[in-house]
Amino acid sequence: MSMPDAMPLPGVDEELKQAKEIEDAGKYSFMATVTKAPKKQIQFADDMQEFTKFPTKTGRRSLSRSISQSSTDSYSSAASYTDSSDDEVSPREKQQTNSKGSSNFCVKNIKQAEFGRREIEIAEQDMSALISLRKRAQGEKPLAGAKIVGCTHITAQTAVLIETLCALGAQCRWSACNIYSTQNEVAAALAEAGVAVFAWKGESEDDFWWCIDRCVNMDGWQANMILDDGGDLTHWVYKKYPNVFKKIRGIVEESVTGVHRLYQLSKAGKLCVPAMNVNDSVTKQKFDNLYCCRESILDGLKRTTDVMFGGKQVVVCGYGEVGKGCCAALKALGAIVYITEIDPICALQACMDGFRVVKLNEVIRQVDVVITCTGNKNVVTREHLDRMKNSCIVCNMGHSNTEIDVTSLRTPELTWERVRSQVDHVIWPDGKRVVLLAEGRLLNLSCSTVPTFVLSITATTQALALIELYNAPEGRYKQDVYLLPKKMDEYVASLHLPSFDAHLTELTDDQAKYLGLNKNGPFKPNYYR
Ligand code: NAD
Repeated sequence: MSMPDAMPLPGVDEELKQAKEIEDAGKYSFMATVTKAPKKQIQFADDMQEFTKFPTKTGRRSLSRSISQSSTDSYSSAASYTDSSDDEVSPREKQQTNSKGSSNFCVKNIKQAEFGRREIEIAEQDMSALISLRKRAQGEKPLAGAKIVGCTHITAQTAVLIETLCALGAQCRWSACNIYSTQNEVAAALAEAGVAVFAWKGESEDDFWWCIDRCVNMDGWQANMILDDGGDLTHWVYKKYPNVFKKIRGIVEESVTGVHRLYQLSKAGKLCVPAMNVNDSVTKQKFDNLYCCRESILDGLKRTTDVMFGGKQVVVCGYGEVGKGCCAALKALGAIVYITEIDPICALQACMDGFRVVKLNEVIRQVDVVITCTGNKNVVTREHLDRMKNSCIVCNMGHSNTEIDVTSLRTPELTWERVRSQVDHVIWPDGKRVVLLAEGRLLNLSCSTVPTFVLSITATTQALALIELYNAPEGRYKQDVYLLPKKMDEYVASLHLPSFDAHLTELTDDQAKYLGLNKNGPFKPNYYR
């Protein structure tokens, strides 16, 4: 692809340059271990790329939650964080042992293990890709000798990942990346199964770092891989135990913020091991943004407001992946959907998909629902809010909680009335009410749940990234941030196809030659999204 000098495409050019470098580096190691599995050949292609992105800390907390926020927040909605049924004694004060006599963990209540095991089994049903990864390894243990220190949400879905890593030969020590998101019973089940897990729901800030420290700082055990979500674990190791990096073979990071932190380290020349950016793998982006939002927008709105969509007028700000997902769901239920866009290409896509593209001002007086999904700030201003009609519902599906200028609503003339969890009525002096959801934070993550299948994609990608970095011969990866090789992305997708009984067409030799492709992929260039 050649571009005129006046129109540089830094991302793409950089990717292509990187991809070339890796092409010369040879085959992927995981290929060597897993291709011996009888049914399917696994060969990873030779491409990887550097990555840039600029998130905020708040974003990290929310987005990382997006990745692992469990649809098995058991019987509760994702909005309910606290677990009042448990006693108030800090797990740090308790002496607990599992049934094998081990006390190498710290969880809320080990007695909840059986209930947690059932949660994990339910999650396994929709995470068949990880289960098949366990089977395909066929006892070969591509992670034999791997000592993985992990910091992610601790939910039933993550438990399936952790147990897959163990089944593939790894030893794991795990803490939570969010002080609220741990499913206590799942942590107990992991501890009962012998995983060194240090996490509970409602940790203090001090507990949070203590748990991370307990995972890293252990006599006679030194991590050689890091799996992080948000970058806190990586940061802790850099700060407290820099020597640990002498043994670390790689970092796998899944959140926007964590990847950004890694990229900053890399830019400053301080990244001392290779790192894999799972966040930007194609499958994850597609599933987290488009399909996940398509599934969860209606759920979030219905749980909070009981709204009926047929015939309702909805304006969606931003027609990117998230916007497209939301609009598809809304349209399917018979809503009249308007789009606002700044980008003519996305605007044209919206037109071709049958939506009216408007300026927010043109429809703000008439719409029943306003949804932002731009990743931008102040998209809905106080002026817009002043002009909305009575009972208009306002919510955000984007990364930042400043898409709606909620701060401008905290003025003396407006009354706030909390009507439900995550639902506020903001009342104007003339009695007009605007229904504000989740105070402008991400609606689906605050008010609904994320499908296990979406989390399965991310978890499978993480597992493959760990296997690849752990087995890569010296020199393949430098001290830099890499995107997943396209072939690995394709492999993650292929592992999920059997769930749908989908039958992939194979290229004939002649067709492969005609298209200039390897029959086993990759089937698309690096920059394909
Ligand atoms: P995207 O870049 O594909 O789409 C955003 C769109 O908004 C773009 O087309 C852009 O042109 C448009 N836009 C920017 N400023 C605008 C403005 N002022 N008015 C109208 N349109 C504007 O990004 P995406 O993948 O769709 O993600 C959107 C946001 O959602 C991001 O912040 C992302 O982090 C977040 N996200 C949320 C979830 C979730 O579960 N809720 C999942 C993934 C991503």
